[in-house]
Amino acid sequence: MPAIAPARRIVEDLNPLNIASQQFEIAADYLKLDAGLREVLRRPRRSISLTLPLKMDDGSIRVFDAYRVQHSNVRGPCKGGIRYRPNVTCDEVSALAAWMTWKCALVDVPFGGAKGGIACDPKHLSRNELEHLTRRYAYEIAALIGPDQDIPAADVNTEAQTMSWIMDTYSMTTRHAAPAMVTGEPTLMGGSLGRFEASARGCLFVLHAACKVRGISLKTATVAIQGFGNVGGAMARLLWDEGARVIAVSDSKGGTVNKEGIDIPALLRFKVASGGVEAFPGCSPIPSDDVLKTQCDILIPAALENQITMENAGYIRARIVAEAANGPTTPEADLMLSRKEVMVLPDILASAGGVTVSYFEWTQALQQLLWDEAEMNRRLEQVMVKTFHEINDTAKKYNCDYRAAAYIVAVGRVAKAVMERGIWP
Ligand code: NAD
Repeated sequence: MPAIAPARRIVEDLNPLNIASQQFEIAADYLKLDAGLREVLRRPRRSISLTLPLKMDDGSIRVFDAYRVQHSNVRGPCKGGIRYRPNVTCDEVSALAAWMTWKCALVDVPFGGAKGGIACDPKHLSRNELEHLTRRYAYEIAALIGPDQDIPAADVNTEAQTMSWIMDTYSMTTRHAAPAMVTGEPTLMGGSLGRFEASARGCLFVLHAACKVRGISLKTATVAIQGFGNVGGAMARLLWDEGARVIAVSDSKGGTVNKEGIDIPALLRFKVASGGVEAFPGCSPIPSDDVLKTQCDILIPAALENQITMENAGYIRARIVAEAANGPTTPEADLMLSRKEVMVLPDILASAGGVTVSYFEWTQALQQLLWDEAEMNRRLEQVMVKTFHEINDTAKKYNCDYRAAAYIVAVGRVAKAVMERGIWP
């Protein structure tokens, strides 16, 4: 008898850059873009790889890899956050830079896309070491960033303080204060009111509009949130304020569940005091990954890329997935969710609140103005709701899912800008 070959296990490609390319190609096919234009749009305009030497507190010297990728400046200065993660790669940063280009085009703010990263674990660096590493990074890229060129912001493991150090270092090189060269710095330094929770608030506005389409009342909806950092924590707090029932939450160390609803303000205090959510009294601990499988109306991935894959998409029991994180769902998982009729609100829409308010902040900083928080939120709501309906209409027109629709709008806008500007020389 001939030997039976073992069944080949399909291995999913989890390289974020390949995933970003696949998502782009789907829209490019719908838009029938020619090969040359696709090449221009797919590839980053500029990728910078750096090695950053740092003198540690104990006198030893270490060297850190770092990146800044500027994907596009066709519609305006590049814009994008900087993340600190031990295993951050150039491909990850390049994918995130492309997603920023599409996100900015989708909400129609006059920015292109960029992203940066330093391969470090900030939990194992002192404040002094973090400050020196951040300043060295800012100095190395100073000639290529600035209010008209490339405007950094906070992302995973970076915060308002990081932005202040970058703004200060850059300002030293230009010899004048340049508050418009970053967003997300403290309000005292030119930061905008409402910026901290803008990403989450933008997602909430989109959810309001999506729930109406899906026939779900947000006030009584059950919600599970993966990630309890800047975005996930703020999201939980805003949903709690709305009256929604957040029944499961996780961070990198573990998760916690309570079908009756979790007391979010108390959990936020507990997280600050204990550093985690898993042991929160009155709830049951669960493994981090189980939060994604919770039976709920709305699931919010707010952690990292590649969290919903073909391995676990079959277990998702939510009616809406609102991607507050960048790149949480793989293309294979997307297909599986679509077959299950789960409404996926794609990252370039659901996480676009941050960059939208960054745009408001940049315009205020350039004019030395300060709008009040109500004004910021009113304008943010206008942008997010309008964009949701644009995607809803495009999805109907092309008979496609929301991600493809969002890319059709965004890629179409950037492609048009490339053609109108022309290829120089
Ligand atoms: P953060 O570092 O403040 O929080 C990340 C959270 O995810 C932490 O609670 C961490 O413990 C948790 N986490 C990591 N791995 C996990 C896992 N496997 N399971 C469960 N939880 C896990 O980062 P953030 O600023 O909140 O960013 C989160 C996501 O939102 C990222 O994808 C980021 O790119 C995106 N984003 C952030 C902003 C912003 O303004 N901060 C804007 C748009 C998009």
